[in-house]
Amino acid sequence: MIQKQVVPFQEGNASMKALLGGKGANLAEMTRAGLPVPPGFTITTEACLAFFKVGNRISEGLLEQIAEALKQLEKQKGQTFGDASNPLLVSVRSGSVSSMPGMMDTILNLGLNDLTVQGLAALTNNEKFAYDCYRRLMQMFGNVVLGIEGYHFEQLLHRLKEKEGVQQDQDVTADGWKSLIEDYKACILAKTGQAFPQHVYEQLRLAVEAVFKSWNNQRAQIYRKINRIPDEQGTAVNIQSMVFGNMGSSCGTGVVFTRNPSTGENTFFGEYLINAQGEDVVAGIRTPLAIAALKSEMPQIYEQLFSASKQLEKHYKDMQDIEFTVENNKLYLLQTRNGKRNAQAALKIAVDLVQESLLTKQEAVERIEVSHLDQLLHRGIDEEAVKDVLAKGLPASPGAAVGQLVFDADTAAEWSRAGKTVILARNETTPEDIHGVIASEGVLTSRGGMTSHAAVVARGMGKPCVCGCEEVRIVLDEKRMFAGSRVVEEGDWITLDGASGRVIIGAMPLHEARMTDELLVMLKWADDIRTLKVYANADNPEDAKIARQLGAQGIGLCRTEHMFFSPTRLPVVQRMILADDKEDRLQALAQLLPMQKSDFEGMFEEMDGLPVTIRLLDPPLHEFLPNLEDLQKRHSELTYGHAGSDLEREEIAHLLRKVQALHEANPMLGQRGCRLGIVYPEIYDMQIEAIFRAASGCIDRGIRVLPEIMIPLVGHANELKILRELVDFVAEQVLGKDKLRDCPYKVGTMIEVPRAALTARQIVAYADFFSFGTNDLTQMTYGYSRDDAEGKFLTHYVDQKLLPHNPFQVLDTEGVGQLIDLAVNAGRLVKPALKTGICGEHGGDKESIFFCHLTGLDYVSCSPYRIPLARIAAAQAFIMHGVPGEQKVAQAI
Ligand code: ADP
Ligand code: MG
Ligand code: MG
Repeated sequence: MIQKQVVPFQEGNASMKALLGGKGANLAEMTRAGLPVPPGFTITTEACLAFFKVGNRISEGLLEQIAEALKQLEKQKGQTFGDASNPLLVSVRSGSVSSMPGMMDTILNLGLNDLTVQGLAALTNNEKFAYDCYRRLMQMFGNVVLGIEGYHFEQLLHRLKEKEGVQQDQDVTADGWKSLIEDYKACILAKTGQAFPQHVYEQLRLAVEAVFKSWNNQRAQIYRKINRIPDEQGTAVNIQSMVFGNMGSSCGTGVVFTRNPSTGENTFFGEYLINAQGEDVVAGIRTPLAIAALKSEMPQIYEQLFSASKQLEKHYKDMQDIEFTVENNKLYLLQTRNGKRNAQAALKIAVDLVQESLLTKQEAVERIEVSHLDQLLHRGIDEEAVKDVLAKGLPASPGAAVGQLVFDADTAAEWSRAGKTVILARNETTPEDIHGVIASEGVLTSRGGMTSHAAVVARGMGKPCVCGCEEVRIVLDEKRMFAGSRVVEEGDWITLDGASGRVIIGAMPLHEARMTDELLVMLKWADDIRTLKVYANADNPEDAKIARQLGAQGIGLCRTEHMFFSPTRLPVVQRMILADDKEDRLQALAQLLPMQKSDFEGMFEEMDGLPVTIRLLDPPLHEFLPNLEDLQKRHSELTYGHAGSDLEREEIAHLLRKVQALHEANPMLGQRGCRLGIVYPEIYDMQIEAIFRAASGCIDRGIRVLPEIMIPLVGHANELKILRELVDFVAEQVLGKDKLRDCPYKVGTMIEVPRAALTARQIVAYADFFSFGTNDLTQMTYGYSRDDAEGKFLTHYVDQKLLPHNPFQVLDTEGVGQLIDLAVNAGRLVKPALKTGICGEHGGDKESIFFCHLTGLDYVSCSPYRIPLARIAAAQAFIMHGVPGEQKVAQAI
């Protein structure tokens, strides 16, 4: 017996998503709930996979099952497929498992041919309507199934409208449609060498095949790649009896969201068109009406739609995006799904749903898409700078975007690859533009509403979008955009404000976003859940202050060399490096000491009561000196060109000798980190003294200081041993025994050399904490120098799927992660109270944070603006994996 590959709507349900696809499962669920769904059936994803397996062929068995299901449908509807007097018409709709908006194509009005169209006309007493349906079928079928480009049909339609002297499709006469159908037939014959199929079962078979095949079209593949949807899922196909929104003024079609998808507000939101079919609303052909207008135009339908929408939202416990059609004053629901939304709306909706008792706090936290949060926390226009607003459109997806204007997707992609930031402006976008949308900072369209393709896709990606901006006119051939008397050219800088719909001339400065109330509530919930602490990387008191405001529980990395680079200090630092003897060097260091002390005081003050991890000097000394080649050039000018004074020549010669002496073949692996501190102990000595003096001053002022001194680049226990002795010695010297009690400091090391991880058991003897410097650890584990790798081969590797990610962005859990795991376990075996964490870019990456939670680290440290993201991700890690220790025990058993 062959497997059941066809499931009628009344037999499915929402939990069968993998088999029926999202659309099919939800149509079934709505049918079950007694909502008005036109009957139909779903051809399963398994049927699709079977189709691919036998070389893209529909089996006889499947054809039989489809015919059988059609019979049932005919009974339900009292119509017959292909019958000349009372024809059943269907739509053929693709439905993948994960929502892929606009990625696959739908065919409407299937079952019409030269005979049945007459039947439909007679039956409805509406010839114009019947032939409108027929021409739509031919166009969609011609495009999706026969692969004829849409513009061939558009052109013929355009000519017809000119001939009839009408603007809108719905004003075309019945005779007009009839003549267009003849033109379409000729077009199809000319392009494919075959006539439009009159046999309705052939139409159906070809359509189903086309949907299956569309799973492998380029734009679907790209979408899957970005969204990490597995290729092996396949798509389902839904065959559904047609309802008609294009039969006259008591008909219409539209899309509603149960809440506002750009603000999250609990207001009914959507758009519709009277006398229209299917894609008319989203395609942006006519600009649709706001759903509120339906309340006065069709009050009963509005009420029914509203209550069905609320019912669905309650049922799915989430904001729904619903398609509906009204046929002769009767409402039908054609689709529901969890609506796409931007980050701010997602937060508001999740918080509101908890308050409405539809969700638990955990479920709400789990739902937050942290990658979107990151964008939410970065955008906003500095209003002071806004002078020249070119036009205003619909605020389709909030946030600000700055870039150079381009008018087609290919240019957008090309320019973006060349390192430019671009804004894509189109009359309207289609799925073919997807690579251009991905490449741009934001999207502008002159046509289409809040539910147009551009708006939906941009919101999904969290990109700013202004759509339906009818004031602007894009002339593609000239690569220009007009607004009134103004002209903007390709390459000009513009700014989009997706929250207000403004299009602004020039590159406006952007400000960092402020925390919204909803975000604060969500973060509080996340904090109650998570066990992993979140620290910040901050090199100065200003950043520390921001970090604390964003919820940092400490500073995980303060890089002291950043304090050395400031213009007022660099000369002193250089004098220290150039000193010929110890005496000289000590003098320069004495000058640096109060400067460093005041830096640390500022940090301690901001972080009152929280730990501050200070890393002693890390980069090689030559980084503070002028470039070798520049010096050589200047030196030869002075020597052979007889320029400058004797004094200058001597100075340059001296500098040159020093720089040459410090020059290294491979600085990354040279005299840096603790190696520097061991050869020049007076430098670290000064820094340690500055730390404890700052601590002492703060203690006197009633501030609680918790310094954690971090020794970089340790590879052998002995390195840490002598530097730890130095710290302990200086601490006691500066603070004295009594005050030492008020300053519970820690000494630890950054684990960033593989040997340190491998010998953690020895190193831990001198360490109170391990902080994994995953940037260097990744460089040294892979043997990649980051600058060279990212500039040369890494992108290639990721494209070729040799590596799953760029390991500098997403932690390589398999390799680098193993070293971390090893070091943590070895360290804790000796010192159960050992504190562990990571610092560096990975600390703000979701997947890496999940790894840190699972490995049982105490904290992650990331840049201040990623802290909210890290707090939520840490909570999500807990929700997904529970307490890390327990998990490990469970795995061991
Ligand atoms: P998409 O996945 O691109 O949204 P759909 O399959 O939902 O594609 O269909 C495209 C449009 O056609 C939608 O507006 C939908 O409501 C409409 N549509 C689909 N099936 C029917 C039907 N049986 N009767 C009327 N309209 C339909
Ligand atoms: Mg749809
Ligand atoms: Mg390092």
